[in-house]
Amino acid sequence: MTDKNFDYWQGRAADLRIEGRAFIDGVYVDAADGGTFDCVSPIDGRTIARIADSGEAEVEAAVAAARRSFEAGVWANLNPRQRKKTMLKFGALIRQHADELSLLETLDAGKPIGDTTTVDIPGAAYCVEWFGEAIDKIGGEVAPADHHLVGLVTREAIGVVAAVVPWNFPILMAAWKFAPALAAGNSVILKPSEKSPLTAIRVAQLALEAGIPAGVFNVLPGAGNVGRLLAQHMDIDCIAFTGSTAVGKLIMQYAGQSNLKRTWLELGGKSPNIVLPDCPDLDRAAASAAGAIFYNMGEMCTAGSRLLVHRDIKDDFIARVLEQAKKWVPGHPLDPATGMGAIVDQIQLERVLGYVEAGRAESTLLCGGDRVEPIAGGYYLQPTIFEVKPTDRVAREEIFGPVLSVIVFDTIDEAVQIANDSDYGLAAAVWTGNLTTAHDVARKLRAGTVWVNCYDEGGDMNFPFGGFKQSGNGRDKSLHALEKYTELKSTLVRLR
Ligand code: NAP
Ligand code: MG
Repeated sequence: MTDKNFDYWQGRAADLRIEGRAFIDGVYVDAADGGTFDCVSPIDGRTIARIADSGEAEVEAAVAAARRSFEAGVWANLNPRQRKKTMLKFGALIRQHADELSLLETLDAGKPIGDTTTVDIPGAAYCVEWFGEAIDKIGGEVAPADHHLVGLVTREAIGVVAAVVPWNFPILMAAWKFAPALAAGNSVILKPSEKSPLTAIRVAQLALEAGIPAGVFNVLPGAGNVGRLLAQHMDIDCIAFTGSTAVGKLIMQYAGQSNLKRTWLELGGKSPNIVLPDCPDLDRAAASAAGAIFYNMGEMCTAGSRLLVHRDIKDDFIARVLEQAKKWVPGHPLDPATGMGAIVDQIQLERVLGYVEAGRAESTLLCGGDRVEPIAGGYYLQPTIFEVKPTDRVAREEIFGPVLSVIVFDTIDEAVQIANDSDYGLAAAVWTGNLTTAHDVARKLRAGTVWVNCYDEGGDMNFPFGGFKQSGNGRDKSLHALEKYTELKSTLVRLR
């Protein structure tokens, strides 16, 4: 990485050719009505591309292409070894174009280049490879049955899968959907967020180049209606959604009002990070607590946005977290030295600043709180910490920005009660040197992922990722995620 410095990335950015069209049935197309919307870089607020604004015509074309390719069996009915080979090639092509894809992601979403080159793009390639590898390893069951029968239990592709994804990890969240969906043999329509469509548009071509047949992988950028049109469509069999809880509730309604398509929701969070007085390493816990909320500008569904600290260590621990916060200085996202980049767009920046205002009124500001402009015209915010009451608005609602709420507690039971007193249940963490306490608390936390003496560990594909309660249903990652994109079938054969 040493040769790829700030100058290198700025030079590459200046030369970049950006594709902004939809990808339907193996070709890039403009919206039929010619509509476009601006792709604005949050780095400096400049428009860097015009993106096809897909609408009903594009949705119909993509669904038709996906349906036709699925029915024809050009992908679903391939020998599993062949599909695996193609997926591995797709992963390899993502790696081969890692610089370009990292650059697109950084320009589009404001994420630091040091993150997109090490997490987002290699993570997406790894996901594609991992599910590709699984294809020829998984079979069905021969179930116990009457002696005159042979009973098979198999899984088969659902058909046409729509993936509607957010902007915080644009290609990674997309890969968590399209990789298992493709691996299972489905045809896919991917709808990226209007805030971050560039990498999804680009990888569509790589998928085709790898050998995924035309119509099997389609990408529909759009500014508004595409997600709803997909969720309401009568000829889509499954919708896999990552985004806010509010939109997740709509998606479920659309599915109910249309064809009862399988609906998988990965939604928001307000995750508690509990530090007990017997925490074995307060410095590591403090660095981790800061990373848990300031990494990716706090635009993390698993953000450790509620830091629960025991009263006995409160002053000492908060001082250490404040010290750590100083390291998260917003800087130019194309500079490999930058740890914190830009907030994804002006709307999100204003939303987060609205929460900061609420925090100033109700809670105690410990640091940050102001917009900064390391690059003129860009959308940046200081790392911000409040000491709060559990009932304060900033302590209850998902902010999706670099804003930490610190809550002080007196007993473990109280900490668990506060931790679970949330509509969300995506992730949680506890720091303790006592093994029994660790397991006791981990069992009581109502969350899909619990970390002990760490936060955000587990980059491996092996761990199911998703939430309890209003953080959603279903899980991304792991072999369990493959099941979401299949139907179970029992086949009973009478022998005599
Ligand atoms: P969002 O506003 O809910 O949007 C998510 C996606 O849904 C976007 O592609 C959006 O398209 C689309 N959409 C918006 N309105 C829709 C509607 N009425 N019908 C169908 N689709 C619609 O969420 P976001 O702001 O992009 O992402 C942030 C949220 O994602 C946070 O709540 C975060 O916690 C959650 N998240 C969860 C996970 C997880 O795995 N649990 C991971 C990452 C993020 P447009 O952009 O075109 O409006
Ligand atoms: Mg953008």
